[in-house]
Amino acid sequence: MDQFSNMRLTTQRQIILEELAKVTSHPTANEVYDMVRRRLPRIGLGTVYRNLELMAESGLILKLEVGGTQKRFDATVNPHYHIRCIQCNKVDDIEIPVQHHINEIATTACDYQILGHHIEFSGICDDCTQRQKDHMVS
Ligand SMILES: [Zn+2]
Ligand SMILES: [Zn+2]
Repeated sequence: MDQFSNMRLTTQRQIILEELAKVTSHPTANEVYDMVRRRLPRIGLGTVYRNLELMAESGLILKLEVGGTQKRFDATVNPHYHIRCIQCNKVDDIEIPVQHHINEIATTACDYQILGHHIEFSGICDDCTQRQKDHMVS
């Protein structure tokens, strides 16, 4: 790869990271693509997708393996928990302390060396609750 395309890749990755860091909505690759396209009109979905995967592999961002059909991405890489709305599938961060003691409980229950855990809460978001109420009234 020549120097120019190398540089271009880095810039693309930088912009993808910047756009992802602006939101807390845990966007899918398609949603990231829409955000990035405003700044890089000629970028392709495949390029965005590849860069997201690469950045997730190197730990720059998180790839969320949450319920639902599409992978979602997160610029917040420190350990935190997520909550997913079972109706609209949106994913938010949930601000509770990381439960380190779960790792110890798991350690006593298996012979793995536990490195961490993920918790995904599920529920119904405020918007969806509101929508349900509106339906019931009318
Ligand atoms: Zn919802
Ligand atoms: Zn998150």
